Parts: sequence; C-alpha cells; structure tokens
Amino acid sequence: MVDLVSQYEKIQEDVDQSVLEVIRSSAYINGPEVKNFQKELEEYLKVKHVIPCANGTDALQMAMMALGLKPGDEVITATFTFVATAEVIALLGLTPVLVDVDPDTFMLDPQEVEKAITPKTKAIVPVHLFGQCADMEAIMKIAKEHNLFVIEDTAQAIGADYTFADGTTAKAGTMGDIGTTSFFPSKNLGCFGDGGAIFTQNDEYAEKLRVIANHGMTVRYYHDEIGVNSRLDSIQAAILRKKLPHLDTYNASRKRAADFYSDAFAASDKIKTPAKVKGSTHVFHQYTLKLEDVDRAELIEHLNRKGIPAMIYYPVPLHMQKAYQDDRYTEGQFPVAEMLASQVISLPMHSELDDEQLTFITESFLEFVN
Ligand SMILES: *Cc1c(COP(=O)(O)O)cnc(C)c1O
Repeated sequence: MVDLVSQYEKIQEDVDQSVLEVIRSSAYINGPEVKNFQKELEEYLKVKHVIPCANGTDALQMAMMALGLKPGDEVITATFTFVATAEVIALLGLTPVLVDVDPDTFMLDPQEVEKAITPKTKAIVPVHLFGQCADMEAIMKIAKEHNLFVIEDTAQAIGADYTFADGTTAKAGTMGDIGTTSFFPSKNLGCFGDGGAIFTQNDEYAEKLRVIANHGMTVRYYHDEIGVNSRLDSIQAAILRKKLPHLDTYNASRKRAADFYSDAFAASDKIKTPAKVKGSTHVFHQYTLKLEDVDRAELIEHLNRKGIPAMIYYPVPLHMQKAYQDDRYTEGQFPVAEMLASQVISLPMHSELDDEQLTFITESFLEFVN
C-alpha cells in the first residue's frame, strides 16, 4: 500500500546525517531538533502554535483535556473513521456521540451533527478523512451557533487547504479551536516511528497543552494538574525536519497517482471514484473508491494474486464495533456508513507510484470489474 523505502532512499544522505547528529549530541529528548521542527511546522501551517507530541491519538486526547471537557460531556464525531477518534473520547469518560457521514465524500454530515446536539454537547470532532477536509464551512457555523469546541482530526490530511465561502483559506487542522495530527510512518508526513502534533491559534490552549504533555508540570516537580507524558523524540523530529520541505511534492505525487486512477476508472459504471469536498484540496492519504455490483472479496483476491495490495478502510463502522456498542446504537442506524463499509476499497497510494505501476494496477482492476 505504501513504499517507504523508495521515498527514504531519495533523501537518505540528508536523513542519515541528521539522525547521526542527534545520536552524537545526546539531546535525545526536547533537543533543539524538536524546537526547530515545531517552528518550521508553524510556518508551514501558518499557525501560531504547534505542540509536538508522541502520536496522533495522544494529540486528540490532550486536545480534549486542554479544552476542559469533563465526564458526561458529549462529543460528536463520525461513525466512519479510524477508532482513535472515538477511543480517546471514551477513555476520558466523555460520551462519544456517533453520527452518519456523507455518502459521496465520506465526511461527517453537518445535518446529522445538528440533529445530534443536546444540552450536554461540548465539542465536534470532524475527521479530515482520506486526505481532504470535512465540510468546515457548515461545521464551524454549527459550532458557533451552539457554542461548541471544534477539534480537527488531521491525521490523514496534513497539507490540505480549505477555502471558505468568504475567500479565506486555511490549512487543515488550523480552522477549529485545536487541530491534531499523526506522523505514523504511512501518513502523508511520516517519521520512522511514532509521532504527532497539536495545532492551535489560541495562546491559552497552547500553554495548557504544553503543560499537559509534560506531566501537568509548570515548574519542575510542581504539578498543577494531571497530565500525561507525550513527547516527540529528537530523532523523529530530525527526520521530520528533512521531510517537511518535501511534503507538498509528496502530496502532489499522490494527487497525480489519484488522477491517473480516476481517469482510468471514469468510464466504468461499477466504480465510483472519490468525490471532492467543496472548498477543499485533496492530499490523498488514501485513494478510496466505491464499488457497485462487484464481489469485493474476490476482487481483492484477484489483485493480491497479481501482487497488488488493496485494503478496506474501514470494514466496520464504530457503532458496530464490539467495544463501542451501547444501547444508543443498533445495526441499520447509520445506513450510509454501513453501506460504505460494504462498498469501499482503497488502492496503493504513496508518493513513489510510477506510470508502469499505475497502469498495471488499473488494468488488473478493470480486468476483474468489467
Ligand atoms: C492514524 C490516525 C490517528 C492516530 O494516529 P497515531 O499516531 O497512530 O496515534 C487518529 N485519527 C486518524 C483519522 C488516523 O488516521
């Protein structure tokens, strides 16, 4: 699905050198590389504060802690997403309120969000799924009207841009109160281990997030609140500093591969290629299409036999996951997410796909589908 080795080989000397420098410096934790990466990412995102942390799941958890969310508070998010989003809501004793998604864009459906709001609702977590932004125009409007926090899960969409109706443009993750991302190796900006970051334009949240990420500590060994230990280590920061300048090029390569796929599949009425969210660019963390009247399991077997990987993101919506089942949810309740779970398939997507590979993949795919 991804080719991390080829990508690494192109910047190997640079990366190896910077990793060796960290090793020789012995500044393994909170070294200058972390501070410099923070500043460079702030500049790239045009955001006032970046708080680097250990992974994208911690980033979400700390965002909810910094906003002062308390047990019993309701947090609305999509039922069609990676589990991390709902996991941290539940772990903090908050109540995850799952809602259905748009059948074409796969994003949190603003109308469903509005219907799910109660007096206990405190926050909305739009997930910028597969590489484009959720409908932020509508979500920000709803949040404002109902006085709710917005936490953007940007793990899959770093580098995407969103343009509002009034013409203002912002990077994914910088529109809500807090944005979070992950540097897991296969993400669009991946390190060589675990890593994550939190973004905010708000000074107060930034200060709080830095304290929470460091054991709730302001002065060494004085703990004003309960925090966690969540740091980006210096080696990962050094690697990310070498990769960040290439992020736009990586994303452009992904877009090129996606366009190749979409052009090849355009004529097939059994294949629904990815729909665009109005106002958003797409950085194609995944290339995910919908199939109609195709035996998906057989198709995947056919592709695998030819050495082509294919995955289902995601096979089970959260409301049907064992861990998240409660009285509020039944099968059939979120028909769009359930339909998507049965229809979607994701093809290899990364920055190193060449025409020969893309031709082989699309031809093999159509051979089965047509
Ligand atoms: C990857 C991912 C996360 C979690 O990131 P980790 O760094 O693996 O903890 C959260 N949300 C979404 C949508 C993701 O894809």
